[in-house]
Amino acid sequence: MGERESGGKPGLFQVVWKVLLALLVLAGIVCWVLFWWNRFTLTVELEGEESVLHQYGEPFQDPGVRVTLRGTELLMEGRELSHADIMVFGGPNVEQLGRQNVTYHVRFLFWEAEVHRTVTVTDMISPVITLTKAPDFIPARGPYIESGYQAYDNLDGDITDRVKRQELPGKIVYTVVDSCGNPASVERKLPVFKLVEPEITLSGGDYWAIPTGTVFEEPGYKAKDDMDGDLTEKVQVEGEVSWWQTGTYPLVYSVTDSTDNTTTVTRNVEVIPREWPDTQWPEGKTIYLTFDDGPGPYTQALLNVLGAYGAKATFFVTDSGYGNVMREIVAQGHSIGIHTVTHDYGKIYASPEAFYEDLTHMQQIIFDETGVWTTLMRFPGGSSNLVSKRTSPGIMTTLSTSVRDAGYQYFDWNVDSDDAGAAHDAQKVFENVVAGVQNKAVCIVLQHDIHSYSVEAVENILQWGQENGYRFLGLNENSPGFHHDVMN
Ligand code: ZN
Repeated sequence: MGERESGGKPGLFQVVWKVLLALLVLAGIVCWVLFWWNRFTLTVELEGEESVLHQYGEPFQDPGVRVTLRGTELLMEGRELSHADIMVFGGPNVEQLGRQNVTYHVRFLFWEAEVHRTVTVTDMISPVITLTKAPDFIPARGPYIESGYQAYDNLDGDITDRVKRQELPGKIVYTVVDSCGNPASVERKLPVFKLVEPEITLSGGDYWAIPTGTVFEEPGYKAKDDMDGDLTEKVQVEGEVSWWQTGTYPLVYSVTDSTDNTTTVTRNVEVIPREWPDTQWPEGKTIYLTFDDGPGPYTQALLNVLGAYGAKATFFVTDSGYGNVMREIVAQGHSIGIHTVTHDYGKIYASPEAFYEDLTHMQQIIFDETGVWTTLMRFPGGSSNLVSKRTSPGIMTTLSTSVRDAGYQYFDWNVDSDDAGAAHDAQKVFENVVAGVQNKAVCIVLQHDIHSYSVEAVENILQWGQENGYRFLGLNENSPGFHHDVMN
């Protein structure tokens, strides 16, 4: 019964079962094939980076690829691929800038695979800047003069003209960029300034003393420099010594070397006043006759009269064109002194400098005519004059001191004949002189030998004087000066 039942409907059940079984086996086969197919899939992988930057011009070392069939490495480092073909396409060309593709194509049996690499050929090397050597020293105040430079690039060649130069304190910075944007920069330290100053040596030291009235003569100096050698000739001397005015005068010596280093030294010159001995008063009653403003047409006659009486007098002379008479004055033993060259108050009292210019000029004229270097002098108008106040207030205060410091002895008077004033005849001149001399033991009498009446009065004066016990003497440096009170 079971058979019948089982024999009755077993056909359908078995078919289904067999179909399922067949499907199961088929699926197993598919899985097995897929498993093995998959297992043998060809794989190619890049060694190294997928995207590479490469230096222009350098040989390209290809990192290569790794090829595997799953589970089996077909290409290994250092080993030839025995069963696979690898084809590499596309360079790279290292002489060509820009992106380039490299393709690796692999074939193995019926499998194929491909992989790509990007190689960018570029320049990564900076240019080189070369500086020409600069001198060690440059002038302190001079500009630095460029010694030169060059810039060279591996790709662009000479790019010196693209160099930018920037002057900064103590240095210069040179920069350049090549066409691929690679920068280069170098610095030049500026040459140092030479700081060693030249040396000045003063002969006789930095202090020098001279007596007033002595012309200062430069005692000498030397200058040398570590680089320039002897610089004596380049020394500049500033300052002036006023020989007639006591005081200390700085003389400034300076010299500058070729790198602008300056040395300055000072020498102080002290002008020391002339020391005067005490006044020597003459023995006995004495008249010093003095004649100003000549010589003139009457002076020779005057000399004759003085000679006849054995009398000596003093002549304060001007440059009046009677040089021969000046010589006669000296020859006959009279004293000669300076009055002035021009007797022009406005000129000689314009300034101390103007006065001394006139004074020394007249001194020279007298010396040239007579051979006497006289230091006796009389101020035009006397030291008490007020006329100088018009041109130079206070000048007599200066001059009355400075002429003596400078070695000149000035003489005023204590008897005025008034021959330049109201006395216009010999008798009046004589009377004025006698009136002035009376009751004085020592007198300096003021007269002018350019007036005939004054000269005519002299014989009577000499007679009267000798009868009254006076000697007539010439002045010398130590004679009493009878200085007036200075009023300007
Ligand atoms: Zn005068």
